Amino acid sequence: AKSSGGAAIVQATDEFRSRLEQRRRLQRDIASAVSRGEFETVFQPIVDVGTLRAHGFETLLRWHHPEFGRLAPDFFIPLAEETGAIVEIGRFVLDRALAIAANWPRQLTVSVNVSAVQLGDRAFVSHVKNSLARHGVAAHRLILEITETVLIRNANAKTVIDELRSLGVGIALDDFGTGYASMGYLRQYRFDKIKIDKSFVSTMNQEGKSAAIVRAICSLARDISATVVAEGIETEELLGLVDAAGCELGQGYLFARPMSALQTSRFIERYGWC
Ligand code: C2E
Ligand code: CA
Ligand code: CA
Ligand code: CA
Repeated sequence: AKSSGGAAIVQATDEFRSRLEQRRRLQRDIASAVSRGEFETVFQPIVDVGTLRAHGFETLLRWHHPEFGRLAPDFFIPLAEETGAIVEIGRFVLDRALAIAANWPRQLTVSVNVSAVQLGDRAFVSHVKNSLARHGVAAHRLILEITETVLIRNANAKTVIDELRSLGVGIALDDFGTGYASMGYLRQYRFDKIKIDKSFVSTMNQEGKSAAIVRAICSLARDISATVVAEGIETEELLGLVDAAGCELGQGYLFARPMSALQTSRFIERYGWC
């Protein structure tokens, strides 16, 4: 038993080492992934819960690694944050998002996720301003989605967000309810949108508590003039519950999975917009 235990430890150590090596490898690869054209932006509709028309789209990133295939952002974004590659990647995403949004009806918004490292980049605000001008997209159509972590990790988040607001850009508080201090941030900042995390939405049909929490967030949002977006609506039943709770906007597989830029035009034609 002793020797097999030793073997298990050696095996575990080997596995740990190879995982570390893989991490380093991916961190190296990600540095050149933008220039190699390995990233794709996909778009998921944000829908008006009352009319079921399109309100806008959220831009989501996909990495097609030449060897490992399609990798999930939850996995590679942290790697890109550690190396700083996220700054260049974030610029790429914003550029793609605005280039695509320029072709949509002007009522539609485009949401882009912003990581903590990007918000800390000195040139971030001027880059957003220049990109909007270059693509001829009105600032109010761009919604930057930030999580509580982004606010925690940036000492001067308040200044940067005020500057973005004065450009006319909208700010959404993402993954609301999953952090520790969400209420404090609602007091300190003005948000145009509050995105309720899918962990609350997906359990609304099972837990009376989740439905009560979603209702409370919607009522709170109304009082501070923010619009609520419910994430992770996968079924008609959840759509009904979200609507009854007072959410104005929704996002989820029931409406559509994230789609290619080309497919967005078809979605808009088919469902209309508001
Ligand atoms: P997020 O911002 O909360 O994005 C929503 C995630 O939920 C997306 O996953 C989306 O595909 C997924 N989703 C949408 N509807 C449903 C549904 O009905 N059911 C379920 N189960 N999932 C749904 P995705 O694309 O894998 O992105 C994961 C996270 O990676 C995002 O969470 C965001 O935090 C981050 N991310 C994605 N793209 C970017 C980016 O361009 N920049 C940055 N900084 N982060 C990004
Ligand atoms: Ca988001
Ligand atoms: Ca979210
Ligand atoms: Ca999330």
